Amino acid sequence: MSENDCIFCKIVAGEAESEVVHDEEGVMAFMDIGAKAPVHVLVIPKEHVSSLQEVGRLPDGVAKRIFEVAQEVAENMGIAESGYAFRINNGPDARQEVFHLHAHVMGGRKMGMP
Ligand code: 5GP
Ligand code: ZN
Repeated sequence: MSENDCIFCKIVAGEAESEVVHDEEGVMAFMDIGAKAPVHVLVIPKEHVSSLQEVGRLPDGVAKRIFEVAQEVAENMGIAESGYAFRINNGPDARQEVFHLHAHVMGGRKMGMP
């Protein structure tokens, strides 16, 4: 399932450019275009779900893989040891801007709570 006018679905489909750092059957990771940390990667399910409200719609294993890919990307980018923030902005009060579920992996500096 993909959704018209969803920028992350376009990235998955190869219709919009991104700097991809991981690509597998159900999950993709790419550099955040507006990096807020020295390392800032987004990990997404390829299937469109808008937020955690719809996480149950993801195929089996995909949610788990999002966590595992985050750790793999962190290892590959050299921030697994120093640590990183793994964060999902979910809904309006969290200031979610892109309504295709995504996890931020941010590191390379001290990451505080907002
Ligand atoms: P959130 O929805 O969690 O608040 O954040 C959305 C994130 O997506 C932002 O950090 C923003 O910089 C990033 N973003 C928005 N549009 C694009 C895009 O077209 N390409 C990439 N790589 N990142 C994007
Ligand atoms: Zn989408």
